[in-house]
Amino acid sequence: MENLDFLYEIDGETWFIENDRNNLKISYKVKEVLSSVKSVYQQINIIDIYDFGRCLILDGVIQTTELDGYIYNEMLSHVPVITHPHPQDVLIIGGGDCGVANELSKYNFLKKIDMVEIDELVVRECIKYMPSVTGMASYDERINFIFNDGIEYIKDKNAMYDIIIIDSSDPVGPAEDLFKESFYLNAKKCLKPDGILTCQSQSPLFNKDIMARTYKILSKYFAIVKIYVASVPSYPGGFWSFTIASDYFDPDKADISKLADNTRYINREVFHSSFKLPNFIKEIINHV
Ligand code: SAM
Repeated sequence: MENLDFLYEIDGETWFIENDRNNLKISYKVKEVLSSVKSVYQQINIIDIYDFGRCLILDGVIQTTELDGYIYNEMLSHVPVITHPHPQDVLIIGGGDCGVANELSKYNFLKKIDMVEIDELVVRECIKYMPSVTGMASYDERINFIFNDGIEYIKDKNAMYDIIIIDSSDPVGPAEDLFKESFYLNAKKCLKPDGILTCQSQSPLFNKDIMARTYKILSKYFAIVKIYVASVPSYPGGFWSFTIASDYFDPDKADISKLADNTRYINREVFHSSFKLPNFIKEIINHV
């Protein structure tokens, strides 16, 4: 077996151990390592894991799995599309597993879907080994892959998009600056004046500082900012947060009748209930 510091042989079985932090290492029994390549940015693996199915792993960290990736991808993409009354042009930043692009392809009224991903190899590997996740992304002509750093891409752009979806990896390595205030400010400029920004804002339990900071920064630049949540078991803690920001459109007033009917997780009830927050998150929001 290849010498990767997150794959271990234990009693004749192969285990993938995600080293989330000193106090938390999560172990998964491996069925098969399907692919292992190193790009200039990161170590990319597609591993078939018992119970979770095929998983994209970057630098030893799970990004998406066949078991639960659709929960995350649907929440990140359908919520802004339904909240905006007339979206046409969408930008995805990151999103290399193409799950968000695949979800967006379900909406015929979207005209252009640009995806700026820093690492072309992630996209190529996912299209090859995870077709159940990439779905329509490599066939839909509205989807344009732009292989570039998302931070650089948006720097000099003004009022180009109705929606920007930030589907980033954790805030380390190439994704670190995707959580910074200067990046959110440029993203706001890149949006049309009535645009909507959505991002994943990490675990409310283990990364509450990041979630709170994201909420605080976006609240400086947008009139309406809301956190919503879902359970994604393959992310540490299982409980995940997303943040949506707009100057005009409130998800509470979204026209839910537009919601695609070929989803596996989100529906009318889930759309609304995902914004009902537990007290500890309300307290975090009230104190930023
Ligand atoms: N759903 C995942 C999660 O929360 O773990 C993230 C999905 S996606 C695989 C994240 C992607 O962001 C990766 O493919 C990575 O290459 C890309 N990425 C990281 N930094 C980036 C940057 N500065 N610009 C564009 N893409 C970036």
